[in-house]
Amino acid sequence: MNRLLLFLLTTGIFFVLSSWGFYGHKSINRLAIYTLPGEMMGFYKQHADYLSEHAVDPDKRRYSVEEEAGRHYLDADYYEHAVPLDTIPHFWKDAVAKYSEDTLKAYGIGPWHLEKMMWRLQDAFSKKDQNAILKISAEIGHYAADLCVPLHSTMNYNGQLTNQKGIHGFWESRLPELYGAGYDFYVGKAVYIEKINTTIWEVFEESCAARDSVLGMEKALSLSFPEEKKYAFEEKGNGLVKVYSAEYSKAYHDMLSGMVERRMRRATHFVGSLWYTAWVNAGSPVLDGEAVPMPVAGDSVLMELIRRDQDHERELLK
Ligand SMILES: [Zn+2]
Repeated sequence: MNRLLLFLLTTGIFFVLSSWGFYGHKSINRLAIYTLPGEMMGFYKQHADYLSEHAVDPDKRRYSVEEEAGRHYLDADYYEHAVPLDTIPHFWKDAVAKYSEDTLKAYGIGPWHLEKMMWRLQDAFSKKDQNAILKISAEIGHYAADLCVPLHSTMNYNGQLTNQKGIHGFWESRLPELYGAGYDFYVGKAVYIEKINTTIWEVFEESCAARDSVLGMEKALSLSFPEEKKYAFEEKGNGLVKVYSAEYSKAYHDMLSGMVERRMRRATHFVGSLWYTAWVNAGSPVLDGEAVPMPVAGDSVLMELIRRDQDHERELLK
C-alpha cells in the first residue's frame, strides 16, 4: 500500500492536493466552455482538453511556490463571522491598509487574487495572446471554483477545530465523485458581470453563508451514525484506502439536499461568466476556432467527456 497516500487520507491532509477534487475542477472548466457565446466557444472548445487538464495547475504549484496556497481561500471568519462581509475591505489596497499584507497572506487572499487574474485575462485578450488566454482562463477556472466551496472560507477548513478532520475532502471531492454523474450541469449562458469585484465577493459570501451547514450537518450526522459504519476501505491504486463509507456519504449528501450540486453549478456558471466578461472588456476580439452550436440539456457528448475526465482521474490514482 502507498503509505504516504494512506497517511494523507487518514490524517485529512489529502485535501490540499485537490480542492474540489481533480475531477471537480476539470469538469467545471470543461462545462464552463458550454456557457460561452458562439464567438468564444469555438476557440475554447478547440482547447477543451487543455483547459480541463490545466484546471488543477494552481493546486500542483502549492508545493513549489510558497505564496500559492493563500490564493485558494480566505479564512473570512478570522475577521468577521456573519455575512455580508462588510468589515473586510473588498479592494486589495484598502485591505492591506487595514490589516497589513502579512496578515492577509496568512489567512488567504482568494477573492483579491481572482480579481487580479481577471485583469491579466483581459490583458491577454487585448493582446490576442492565445497561450496566455488559455493559461489564465484555466487558472481563473480553478480560483473561481475554489471560492464556491464553503470550507474555503473558514479557519476550520478541515474540521480540525471541531473534531471533523477529513470533512474538506469529503464535501468537495468524495461527494462530487460519487454523485457528480447525476448532477444537472446545464447551467445556461454566461452573463456579463458589470462589477467584477462585487460579484466575486457575492459568490464568496454565499460560500461563507453555507459553511455552518456544511460543518453542522456532518457533526449532527456523525453523532447519530454508528461509528463502525462511518468509514470503509476502498481499493485505489495498489491498495486499500480509508474513505467515508457509501452509506455515510449518502446520508450526508441527502442532508445537504443538493448543496454540492448547487455550488458546482454556481462555479461552472461563474467561471464561464468571468471568461466572457474579460473578453467583452477587452473589446470582444475575434478568436480563432470553429463555431459550434450551443449544447442542450443532458447533452450526451458533454456527459461522455465528463465521464472521461472521471475515468482519467481513476487511472491516475492507480
Ligand atoms: Zn485550489
